[in-house]
Amino acid sequence: MSFPDVMEKLVSLSKRRGFVFQSSEIYGGLGSVWDYGPLGIELKRNLQERWWHAMVRSRDDIEGLDSAILMHPRVWEASGHVGGFVDPLVDCKFCQGRFRADKLQDAQCPRKPSKKPGEHTECQLTEPRQFNLMFKTHMGPVEDTSAAIYLRPETAQGSYVNFLNVQQASRQKVPFGIAQIGKAFRNEITPGNFIFRTREFEQMEMQFFVEPGTDMEWFEKWKASRMAWHRGLGLDESRLQFHQHGEGELAHYARAAFDIEFDFGGSLGSQEIEGIHNRGDFDLGKHQEFSGKRLEYVDQANNKRYLPFVIETACGPNRTLLALLVNAYREESVAGEEEGRVVMGFHPALAPVKAGVFPLTKKDGQPEMAHAVANDLRKRFPVFYDEAGAIGRRYRRQDEAGTPFCITIDPESTKNNDVTIRFRDDMGQIRVGASQAAEVIARYLATDISVADSRRVPAP
Ligand code: ATP
Repeated sequence: MSFPDVMEKLVSLSKRRGFVFQSSEIYGGLGSVWDYGPLGIELKRNLQERWWHAMVRSRDDIEGLDSAILMHPRVWEASGHVGGFVDPLVDCKFCQGRFRADKLQDAQCPRKPSKKPGEHTECQLTEPRQFNLMFKTHMGPVEDTSAAIYLRPETAQGSYVNFLNVQQASRQKVPFGIAQIGKAFRNEITPGNFIFRTREFEQMEMQFFVEPGTDMEWFEKWKASRMAWHRGLGLDESRLQFHQHGEGELAHYARAAFDIEFDFGGSLGSQEIEGIHNRGDFDLGKHQEFSGKRLEYVDQANNKRYLPFVIETACGPNRTLLALLVNAYREESVAGEEEGRVVMGFHPALAPVKAGVFPLTKKDGQPEMAHAVANDLRKRFPVFYDEAGAIGRRYRRQDEAGTPFCITIDPESTKNNDVTIRFRDDMGQIRVGASQAAEVIARYLATDISVADSRRVPAP
């Protein structure tokens, strides 16, 4: 089954409604760098908090860490990034375009977008050369090579170099993990597809340290658990799949690797949103060698010392957020109305704004009551208040923002002290006492997110 291409529609909806803006737009934009607007930041935070809860707070065998973006330059020599974090780059001497030699199939010829680079008669592609993806900068006021430093291309190395710090401070025993959420930077040759591949992005990575010999068992456990997490976000099961890295694809450090892929539809199709890797003792081994510091774990109970193996789960919140946008987008016709509606069908627990609060008119005490209801709800979750324009238009705007509930105060409300709750997905309405509204919505938000059709709000 192939899914439709909704990317262009999402780029424009994201700008219109404040999910994602192009960076420095008033200056013409900066290539493949994006800013998250009022709705985008709420959605991204909900996603990251969900990951943090699943990976750190709800477990007793994973600790959190926030290591710095800038690290000692030797870290990147030890990790292999200085020598090997490269992509094959080809230039076109005719149009000056630059492409990843291994991704020509996904690229467009700038002179003739219907063709791939190299297919147009004027293309003059060079032989591939290796291009390092790390951003280099300088630390301190003197721009000499001794002060050269890199923006980290992944968060993982911060967890490896802090392995013993975290283990000793938290008194964890192997097996245990270290989790981080943070920025990473890669000077990608061909970024694109909106926020799918960018030069500045975030990662949610977890390094799980295990005794050698138990590694494949843990690898399988993490594979299953991470796939279940993505399903739990409400991502359509038929869009999710595993991709196993074959011999030629495996990174030099990896003993086994699977990607979790999401089908973004259109020509982008199925692409990695998370990687699960068995990295063996490559990382701790290299840091031990380059730093000269012993990084072995001492298993006192069994009188053993060893370098643990690492199972890594590496997820990109930006890509996963794009998957959520693609997954949520739907266009619907509405009975009795000429214009259809666009709905972002996020699960209520991930939706950026939980409720819109609308007085039907600006008189008869309705705005005052609506403000009181909105203030009551705001103690528990993000709320949007709006008193301008036709009620139908106000509902449509919230449908596009993915707001699962709209609360309306009408002439009956001020008499009976009650409100209507309108549901985004089936547009059905119920009437509840004004003081109960927050509780009713909170009950929906607590509903298990893995309900089969996560776009529908279950009945109360
Ligand atoms: P790709 O093959 O797509 O370049 P990768 O295998 O290099 O990705 P990892 O190093 O495993 O990616 O990074 C883990 C996760 O970080 C990816 O699954 C993805 O979600 C995210 N990620 C990596 N590079 C980027 C990028 N340039 N922009 C946005 N997210 C990214």
